Amino acid sequence: MSKVLIVHAHPEPKSLTSALKDHATTTLRAHKHEVQVSDLYASAWNAVASRADFLQPVQPDRLLYATESGFAFAGRSQSADIEGEQEKLLWADAVILSFPMWWFSMPAILKGWIDRVFALGFAYGVGEHEGERWGDRYGEGTLTGRRAMLTVTMGGHESHYGPRGVNGAIDDILWPIQHGVLFYPGMEVLPPFLIYQSHGLTEADWPEVASRYERRLEGLFTDRPIPFRTQNSGHYDAQQALKPRLGGGGGSRGPAALCGRRREFPVRTGKYREVSRLSGRRGGRRDRNPTASPGFRREFPGAPNREHFRGIRERNDIAAVEQGITEGLHQVCRPSVVAVRRQ
Ligand SMILES: Cc1cc2nc3c(=O)[nH]c(=O)nc-3n(C[C@H](O)[C@H](O)[C@H](O)COP(=O)(O)OP(=O)(O)OC[C@H]3O[C@@H](n4cnc5c(N)ncnc54)[C@H](O)[C@@H]3O)c2cc1C
Repeated sequence: MSKVLIVHAHPEPKSLTSALKDHATTTLRAHKHEVQVSDLYASAWNAVASRADFLQPVQPDRLLYATESGFAFAGRSQSADIEGEQEKLLWADAVILSFPMWWFSMPAILKGWIDRVFALGFAYGVGEHEGERWGDRYGEGTLTGRRAMLTVTMGGHESHYGPRGVNGAIDDILWPIQHGVLFYPGMEVLPPFLIYQSHGLTEADWPEVASRYERRLEGLFTDRPIPFRTQNSGHYDAQQALKPRLGGGGGSRGPAALCGRRREFPVRTGKYREVSRLSGRRGGRRDRNPTASPGFRREFPGAPNREHFRGIRERNDIAAVEQGITEGLHQVCRPSVVAVRRQ
């Protein structure tokens, strides 16, 4: 039995997003997990950071929010709502952020929850900062050992958020939240649960949506997290820049060169041909499965391997092949880099 915190941000209790929150609560409890819900609109969460967040300000005449946040966290003089949410985060083994996508991000009330709850000393500024070490962050920190997942409803179609979609790839759009907010204080981040084209859904579609969500909730403690690079595992140099030959901008050969190609994996043609192409069964150098290259395997031995691809090729499963490649490339390419380099 594990503990799950759902942080929910939708103003309408009868909405689709709220129905997903209710369904997650019921499903997780049915699996004997303990669940707490922070329903931000229902509880009229105060999303506005201010000096009132600190009960004993050290510098009352000029607000330095981060500084006061650090002192208040260390001195246990934060306002009660902030401390209450931090306690819930520490209590949880997994955290689900549940929200509709609003302007390519989360609703402001949820952003305000992060701004106030993720305090200095709690979520950032943790660990030793000395010499080349920039503290415990990106894979290490106060929330290490916990899992996190986004549940996001969106008006846009899946194709709008695909590798060549007009809105930009969904991995890029969620990068600031998944990598910048959740991975930063140490949580392992699972692939998101996404509902595209939400306005097109009807009540009749609900059973399929609900059962798809149940499968993801059942994997909350077993599914493979997104393999982001950790800060302190030697991939970044003393300036916190990705080392040469890793990630984007490293030249035209080796794993680095794959970043610019990540968007070249749309499924355009016949299923079998596409699966073969993606899994490296045939074709010339250009069509090879990039994650099978010796350089890539040396650097990322844990990435999906040939056996993984063989099994799914036999099932003709394009989605699984693409997921395997994407997972592999996550370790090489930082989505934000890919987005910037788009031509
Ligand atoms: C300010 C703002 C900014 C936005 N920005 C973006 C953006 O950047 N990108 C983007 O893609 N979209 C954007 N949108 C669209 C937004 O993401 C969608 O409006 C949202 O995902 C819909 O979710 P909902 O929970 O409000 O759905 P609802 O409107 O409550 O429901 C959607 C549909 O689900 C059906 N449904 C099926 N089962 C159920 C059930 N059990 N309970 C309730 N309803 C059910 C309903 O009948 C309805 O037709 C934006 C919207 C707003 C208001």
